[in-house]
Amino acid sequence: MQHIIGFLLVSLSLFALPAEADSLTTGFVYHPDYLLHDPGAGHPERPARLEAIVSRLQQRSLLDTLHTINAQSVDHAWLAEVHTEAYLSHLEQAVKNAPVHLDPDTGLSSDSVRVAKLASGGVLAAIDAVMAGDVDNAFVAQRPPGHHALPDRAMGFCLINHVAVAARYVQKKYGLRRILIVDWDVHHGNGTEHMFYADPSVFYFSTHQSPYYPGTGAATDTGSGDGIGFTLNVPLPAGTGDANLMRVFETKLVPAMEAFQPEFVLISAGFDAHRDDPLAAFELTAEGYSELTRIVMEIAAKFARGRIVSLLEGGYDLDALASSVEAHIRTLSGGPEETN
Ligand SMILES: [Zn+2]
Repeated sequence: MQHIIGFLLVSLSLFALPAEADSLTTGFVYHPDYLLHDPGAGHPERPARLEAIVSRLQQRSLLDTLHTINAQSVDHAWLAEVHTEAYLSHLEQAVKNAPVHLDPDTGLSSDSVRVAKLASGGVLAAIDAVMAGDVDNAFVAQRPPGHHALPDRAMGFCLINHVAVAARYVQKKYGLRRILIVDWDVHHGNGTEHMFYADPSVFYFSTHQSPYYPGTGAATDTGSGDGIGFTLNVPLPAGTGDANLMRVFETKLVPAMEAFQPEFVLISAGFDAHRDDPLAAFELTAEGYSELTRIVMEIAAKFARGRIVSLLEGGYDLDALASSVEAHIRTLSGGPEETN
């Protein structure tokens, strides 16, 4: 009898599947003030990056299909989860003297700290939308990026480490324990690794060009103390392309997640691994980013009820950035791939 009922349930569920069963609701976070951070003339991390993304999504009629999520500034307490009070005070003081540089790569304009806090707040709003069930997953088109920012120091275009703030937010606000951070930016996210290096509750996975900036991310760096085994660095040579990177995700990340079983997935989505990027020498295509997205979605579907929040890190060729973000979002929303 149980077999018959089981068969009926399976049959009913098959018939009940609508034609568009694959389509998911993807949230999109953007705020016009994200354009107001100006790190200096000629800087590659420029406002035009976000303008290119938004206009591409509009041109391809993709923007209207996404669920708009509004960003608000982050509460100080969430920043203080991963940054020192001294550093946060330093940021507020330094910006009063804008334009000013915090390191040779990292400039501030008068709005920069406010914009960075609005960017972190956008990521947290995306998490709220996913946890509320308003969306299945979300992409945050924000700047400045964050994954090089250390607890007590700005670095490499980054002021606030948004993905690290996000991981703590998911844990403390929603009580989820195991968080996966996938960092496919072409640079190693040294700041993120540092913040969770001794923490077995946040798994940090990074693929990055090596040797290259910032010089961290050796395969032998796997964590410390209780965190040993919860950092997985995969340094790869210049020239690494779609097939190699997909193989790394399939053969290293997927088995690691079978053991870790993440309850929420965050993506430090840098698109500077694209073959046209002027800052680095990987050979990814937009289709490659789509494939990496698909692999991460399979992990999230298996262990984390599909919960993914992806946030922009690097990506400095405007066309490559726009086409890669389009491919990424099309895959997140389960729609057909129509990139070129
Ligand atoms: Zn990067």
